Amino acid sequence: MIKEIEYFLSGKINEECGVFGVFNVEDAAQLTYYGLHSLQHRGQEGAGIASSDGESIIREKGEGLVTEVFNTERIAKLPGNMSIGHVRYSTTGGGGIENVQPILVRSHTGDFVIAHNGNIVNAKELKMQLEAMGSIFHTTSDSEIIGHLIQREVGDFHEKILKALPKLEGAFSFLIMNNENLFVIRDKNGFRPLSMGKLEDGYVFSSESSAFEIVGADYIRGLKPGEVLKVSKDEIESFQYTDCTQDKMCSMEYIYFSRPDSSINGLNVHTSRRNCGAILAKESPVEADIVIGVPDSSLSSAMGYSDFSGIPYEMGLVKNRYVGRTFIKPNQHQRERGVKMKLSAMEAVVKDKRVVLVDDSIVRGTTSKHIIKLLKDAGAKEVHMRIASSPIISPCFYGVDTSTYNELISTRLSPKELGEYIGADSLAFLSNDGMIEGLGKNICLACFTGKYPTSMFSLLENLKK
Ligand code: SF4
Repeated sequence: MIKEIEYFLSGKINEECGVFGVFNVEDAAQLTYYGLHSLQHRGQEGAGIASSDGESIIREKGEGLVTEVFNTERIAKLPGNMSIGHVRYSTTGGGGIENVQPILVRSHTGDFVIAHNGNIVNAKELKMQLEAMGSIFHTTSDSEIIGHLIQREVGDFHEKILKALPKLEGAFSFLIMNNENLFVIRDKNGFRPLSMGKLEDGYVFSSESSAFEIVGADYIRGLKPGEVLKVSKDEIESFQYTDCTQDKMCSMEYIYFSRPDSSINGLNVHTSRRNCGAILAKESPVEADIVIGVPDSSLSSAMGYSDFSGIPYEMGLVKNRYVGRTFIKPNQHQRERGVKMKLSAMEAVVKDKRVVLVDDSIVRGTTSKHIIKLLKDAGAKEVHMRIASSPIISPCFYGVDTSTYNELISTRLSPKELGEYIGADSLAFLSNDGMIEGLGKNICLACFTGKYPTSMFSLLENLKK
């Protein structure tokens, strides 16, 4: 229920976890804590950190925000100079403490821990096969599958990992740590970002490069699709678990999820959004007095719209950053109040103005409708909504909670009908070509096009889960 409330309040797509790892740096768990803190926007349901002193692996985890789960005493229980951490938003498997990561695997060949960002699309078949062979699952998360697959292989630990990975389909960035090494893994389609940085004599790894700034690390590079790094005291070895790769970074990472100070595949997220806003202004101009963005993820695209159109950029909406996550109850009246609590329209800015309102996406349309009402109640003369991405017409199977096909309002309404439904004086979306122009060719656009970059068989199986 909490998720539904938050979903309504955000009216948005939900993030899909974040991972952070440290190798060969003193107080690794403390650094991981800071890293996870900067990835908090990617998942608020649970957080966990595991560390190793070379002899044993200790893990601490809990439900809630990083600051709710960890305090000084709890971090002090995590010694060693190797650590991995995870912030969770549950996509597959649901919530509950058992699904909070890192997952700890106790094995007679040596313990290891796993942190996973993404979604395994052939999880159902793999789980059935593994259970038929005697594997016992302790969580309902798809992330546990890789642990069982690794245990069933033979060879050195890194050989086992390399043999297990080709069995997985879908989106994954993994950090896997035993008492000797850290393994850093990105899926063959490159759906989720994963970056490497240098800190003192060691290394850090993160779902988003912005976390490096927080811990004082220097960005080195992003991992390639299908790449496996084996990080040891003496060296970093790079392997490919398959040569059959493609570069299909999730476009939503640029549009909505990632922090503006992160860079993905060499493109800064703020810059990418600003590019898309400018292209949107070129494609869908309108006569207006001011351009405003919906905080926070749409501010950069609103700036881009203003850059190209010459219409002044203004701050017309203010976000209240201290709304509790669980405070609002989900009846209609309280939902409306919830949106008001989260956002305020600035009457001094919007009154008697023709406003261009830029947002990053529309999922169900409910939030857009409320924001337009807020602006009109504050005296805006006209509100022209411009969306810095295309209509979302298909669900995501790669770890992003875009909701079901029926909930996606653009599957039912044309932009004109949707504009009328949300009370806008006009509504226009960025075209698919505009997204490619702004974000580059190497992106997944499946939720905007319905053309998925992986096999349909696994996706249909996934639907039955
Ligand atoms: S389907 Fe959409 S949300 Fe999912 S990975 Fe592709 S672009 Fe991202």
